[in-house]
Amino acid sequence: MRCELLSVGTEILLGDIVNTNAQFLAKELASMGIDIYYQSVVGDNKERMLQAFKEGLSRSDMIITTGGLGPTKDDMTKELACEYFGYKCELHEESLESIKEYFRRMGREFVESNEKQAYFPKEAIILKNNAGTAPGAIIKKDDKTIIVLPGPPSEMKRMFNESVRPYLEKLTGNTIVSEVVRIHGVGESKVEELVQDLIDNGKNPTVAPYAKEGEVTLRVTAKAKTKEEGEKLIDPVLTEIKNRLGDSIYNIGEEGLNLTVAKLLVDKKLTIGTSESCTGGLLGAGLIDYPGISSSFLEGAITYSNEAKIKTLGVKKETLEKFGAVSEETAREMAEGIRKRCGADIGVSTTGIAGPDGGTDDKPVGLVYIGLSIADKTIVTRNVFNGDRNSVRRRACLKAFDMIRLEINK
Ligand code: ATP
Repeated sequence: MRCELLSVGTEILLGDIVNTNAQFLAKELASMGIDIYYQSVVGDNKERMLQAFKEGLSRSDMIITTGGLGPTKDDMTKELACEYFGYKCELHEESLESIKEYFRRMGREFVESNEKQAYFPKEAIILKNNAGTAPGAIIKKDDKTIIVLPGPPSEMKRMFNESVRPYLEKLTGNTIVSEVVRIHGVGESKVEELVQDLIDNGKNPTVAPYAKEGEVTLRVTAKAKTKEEGEKLIDPVLTEIKNRLGDSIYNIGEEGLNLTVAKLLVDKKLTIGTSESCTGGLLGAGLIDYPGISSSFLEGAITYSNEAKIKTLGVKKETLEKFGAVSEETAREMAEGIRKRCGADIGVSTTGIAGPDGGTDDKPVGLVYIGLSIADKTIVTRNVFNGDRNSVRRRACLKAFDMIRLEINK
């Protein structure tokens, strides 16, 4: 099947926003084995949009549009798709009720102009919008289809995943099953080297590496007739990757390192306290991202000044004078101090030079000591992270989470 993408909106045409919708859809469709030969962008203009439908459907079986489903006169994607096929729109009561319900849930007053979003031709399959107001639609005539989706990425993605993907899977007879292997502590080139043959051989399933700040992921994707068949295809590849990368894999799934560690703490009924200098609360915030962390996370202290380190954590004045705030010794006393202060099973600390200034030969920008007090010991690692100030801070948190994970799993 040939499909093409049509992004609607003058903002995209003029470069005011980045077309992330097209990126998302192109990736998803390609992974489903659907051919995409063209992508276009058109402004909010009647003639040009009709022209885009005509051209698109002369060379493809299907066009997926995003944007232009809003309540204003400018929003006309759905109306023009219907006009193109010669379909008449009529009020769809159920959609109107859903839109009104959405407004009620949000505590907003229903605006009459939104009624326009509930008009559809009886020939269309209406796609519920569970993240916003405008429903989407699959509008088909003979062997040509236009699928209209909303512009806001969160609404578009959810609608695609909940309604369009199953529809396309049925059409193509394929299901896509994929898993993400998440790795910390091994660089991208090393990961690739370790699984190069799987990447090279992979047709079904495919193995695709992707490097993000402080972590590498491998996405394993299989195309199959059923979900079970797809899982059977990817399972041996996942096992092989696990054998090769060992405990540098922190999760197989969607959750990042912070959520993985938070879950681990809760599952193991371990309590934790954090004392942060250069990360300034990011570590604590990373834990709090996990709903249910309250049973484990007791206290987080941002002790940026020397005085705070002494007063709140009991770091010795002599330690600070002799070794400095950014030192192994201070990180150790900070981790032990917060653990003692809140009576937790685990105390973690960060102290470093996030930059851009303040570095010396001995203590360069990016240097972060991370302390972990757990069981009957305290471990401190010396790390030098790349990147700008915020990148150093984020990388330090990832490393701290990884230290906690590895120690708990020992
Ligand atoms: P609404 O009901 O909110 O009016 P809509 O379906 O009419 O939605 P647009 O008005 O075209 O959609 O776009 C709404 C917002 O969604 C844009 O301001 C932009 O922030 C985002 N958006 C639209 N198209 C894209 C795109 N292709 N890529 C990324 N973001 C987009």
